[in-house]
Amino acid sequence: MEEKIIKEKLVEYFLKYLGIPSQSDDKNKEVPSSIGQLELGKVLGLDLKELGLVDISINDFGVVQARLPRRGEGQKSLGWVAHLDTVDVGLSDKIHPQIIKSYDGSDIRLNEDVFFSTKENPEVLAYIGDDIIFTDGTSVLGADNKAAIANIMTTLWYLKENPDIDHAEIHIAFVPDEEIGLRGSRKIDFDKFKVDYAYTIDCCELGELIYETFNAASGTLKIKGVPAHPMSAKGNLVNPIMIAHDFISMLDRAKMPENTENREGYVWVTDIHSDVLNLSLDFNIRNHDREKFEASKAYLYKITDLLKERYKKADIEIQIEDVYDNIADSMNDENKVAVERLKEIFDQLEIEPKIIPMRGGTDGSYLSKVGIFTPNYFTGAHNFHSNKEFLPIDRFYKSFLVTLELMKDKKL
Ligand SMILES: [Zn+2]
Repeated sequence: MEEKIIKEKLVEYFLKYLGIPSQSDDKNKEVPSSIGQLELGKVLGLDLKELGLVDISINDFGVVQARLPRRGEGQKSLGWVAHLDTVDVGLSDKIHPQIIKSYDGSDIRLNEDVFFSTKENPEVLAYIGDDIIFTDGTSVLGADNKAAIANIMTTLWYLKENPDIDHAEIHIAFVPDEEIGLRGSRKIDFDKFKVDYAYTIDCCELGELIYETFNAASGTLKIKGVPAHPMSAKGNLVNPIMIAHDFISMLDRAKMPENTENREGYVWVTDIHSDVLNLSLDFNIRNHDREKFEASKAYLYKITDLLKERYKKADIEIQIEDVYDNIADSMNDENKVAVERLKEIFDQLEIEPKIIPMRGGTDGSYLSKVGIFTPNYFTGAHNFHSNKEFLPIDRFYKSFLVTLELMKDKKL
């Protein structure tokens, strides 16, 4: 089939899904956190039906699931997970994309006030002559993650249009609220998501391939001090703020986000609230290395014990909860083929792999926790989470080609 028609289909689906605002809202504790995600889910449910998928469901949390029965003799059962929400970074939730045809390498006025300069975004110069989808400067583009959704839908459409192509058993899950703590992937009905391994398409430029993420935990330190009137404070007052100060002073400044990169982990104090009696301090722990991650947790428990010893009259409690795991930890001899296959396909399509240890998590980091190895590959877009986000259509197409090859049931 002609490349041009496939590109048109990719753009058609992409623009259709961009037209449904679906920002997640971290102030709402429900899943999904916004009604727009449910609306997008409903539209996807109908589109999946039209594409011939079966067992289509939308559960109470807005997770859309569907299955495409295998065609041919193969054995593999593969999953794709993409997220319905776009991120709220204080920009508009409505997305008005603009397509610049045959980009000529000049600066772009996205709107009256917002300029896209090639000086600040020199990577765009790699796409001179290409058609590129930009924002109008008032919102993110939402290629994160609607480019993935459009990519998956276009591949399913392509398989329907080409009944001679054998493909694996394919499971799809579109999940809400990835951007606010991977909440939606926890709500997948895993009894219906029986896969050997899965993929997300949730990173940026051509060639990006991620199968290493942080291990992540979040925690809270709660301190209850002893109040006293200044008249009689001496020897009596126990100030929770000073105890928190001790706690923070025992953290390693060299192991904080502002001083770490690549595979270096950190502890990040993210919030502190106090009055004279009660204090609450929030923190995040991140590390690619499981042992170092556990050691960080152990260290925080240890300094808490020390403070309990030092301030016997105070109530000091620490709580630490794991949030997600490093994807790489769920890789084994059987499922590592998921990455090998990606590398083979990149090679076949002459795409240079850029393998990145991600300083964050993806839905795959949660899936990994429940034993589903889920590598992540590129959408083709740049500048996620920004009004300067853009998607060169040719790279979008390359990402589609990767999905198509993965879905084909090759003997492995
Ligand atoms: Zn994303």
